[in-house]
Amino acid sequence: MAHPQSGNNNTGSGHRISLSQLIPGAEVSAPGVEVDPLAEYEKKEKCGIFGIAGPPDAVERCYYGLYALQHRGQESAGIATSDGQDISAHTGLGLVAEVFNKNVLRDMTGTAAIGHVRYSTSGSNRKCNAQPILEEYIDGQVAVAHNGNLINAPRLRHEYQKYGHIFYSTSDTEIVIHMLAKPTHQEKADPLAHVLRHLQGAFSMLFLFKDRLEACRDSWGFRPLVIGKTRDGFYCVASETCALASIQATFVREVEPGEIVTIDRGGTTLKSRFYTEDRHARAHCAFEHVYFASPSSTLFGDTVVMVRQKMGRRLAIESPVDADIVIPIPDSGRSAALGFSKQSGIPFEEGIVPNRYVGRSFLQPSQQMRDLAVQMKLIVIPDVVRGKRLVVVEDSIVRGTTTRGKILALRRAGAREVHMRVSCPPIRHPCFFGIDFPTPGELIANGRTVAEIREFIEVDSLAYLSLEGMLECLSHPPGHYCTACWSGTYPIPVDLTVSKFGLERHQLKMFE
Ligand code: SF4
Repeated sequence: MAHPQSGNNNTGSGHRISLSQLIPGAEVSAPGVEVDPLAEYEKKEKCGIFGIAGPPDAVERCYYGLYALQHRGQESAGIATSDGQDISAHTGLGLVAEVFNKNVLRDMTGTAAIGHVRYSTSGSNRKCNAQPILEEYIDGQVAVAHNGNLINAPRLRHEYQKYGHIFYSTSDTEIVIHMLAKPTHQEKADPLAHVLRHLQGAFSMLFLFKDRLEACRDSWGFRPLVIGKTRDGFYCVASETCALASIQATFVREVEPGEIVTIDRGGTTLKSRFYTEDRHARAHCAFEHVYFASPSSTLFGDTVVMVRQKMGRRLAIESPVDADIVIPIPDSGRSAALGFSKQSGIPFEEGIVPNRYVGRSFLQPSQQMRDLAVQMKLIVIPDVVRGKRLVVVEDSIVRGTTTRGKILALRRAGAREVHMRVSCPPIRHPCFFGIDFPTPGELIANGRTVAEIREFIEVDSLAYLSLEGMLECLSHPPGHYCTACWSGTYPIPVDLTVSKFGLERHQLKMFE
């Protein structure tokens, strides 16, 4: 099926590429593609948020919720908690298990808590940008945890700075507290709703006040946010349902786009209001289903693992290939590979095994070590692939350098043919709504045909799932999803010149 952007998502070469062409002195970059050998950084998750009110062990439950959301952000983690009088917070750089230990958790004794795991879609990875952000204002304290990206944050921040406001972080989230604290906003009947009406972009947010927890979602519903209820009757909120499961809470419903949900300090009462009457179309991020969300989660009404299998089945229908085995690029390509195998009847095999213990800290010391770590992260099993014609299923290709390395490893292990199938269309455009892709110039599909990409990653054939095919695997009508990174059609106007470090550049300029 033709892709509206590429004209053709599929390409196969009639000839095999010889091993000697591939390995000695093989170039690692496509013309014009800037290569970062830190291949692990190709696709970066956004943020995950969790909140709960009521139980005496709220902080501990929040910790478990964050643990379950670790896949959504590994740069920093934090929890803010309220004991009814004061709010305190602990944040730090690193994984949840690195930021929190028994002693820290024991000292946080509140009965309501919000937590955050972060990957920086706006602002760099600095301690000051870790969330929740806790600040004092005229009406008391408030802590905020945010998943998404506020596209009008640079402009709003500049306006506030003109009136003397001082910002301590370079995160887009901090502006929200300044807006909330503004005296004329505090005079409004509903200050929070008033502030949210002025934000543009993607936001699923949690606010912790001393007497309540508020959860809200932008009116497009870009990022997920769900409400759960624990076995002992306390309400909680999370980016994904997998976090509810981690504390044995059951799914109640999603926070609706444009909705503010208030959970009282006791955690047993939930109230709803909408900050906007605007009932425009939804723009749920379809890439959450392709890659970001946990396979175990239910997102925008669909179970992620089932959607990924459907995508694999659809790919097998759109772009069949004669081969001996189907292997996934683990972990995110696994469900789509299974679907491809079921549909095509070609046996599914695990030909690449991830080494889960190669972590970020291992990736630090030197370029040589980083290159080695990438190789160690995914280990090819020669006995599985030797002499075989492979269908390799990947969820997406971003820069192409990681994929190319994996294909080379399969060839070295003796694969006879390598046919690549990708369970989403070519990514050609940046995301402004909370997902951090490389710059457009670094995207392998930006300005290149599928045939050129095939040549760069050196596979015998390459095919992507069509946009229509991908959307048919989701239960809402196509108009309910954002597909901008594939189609270039943004649900709301964006400034294509803005980068995630825009706020920092602005701040640095001020000191020049
Ligand atoms: S541009 Fe892509 S990644 Fe960003 S919200 Fe839209 S679908 Fe998701």
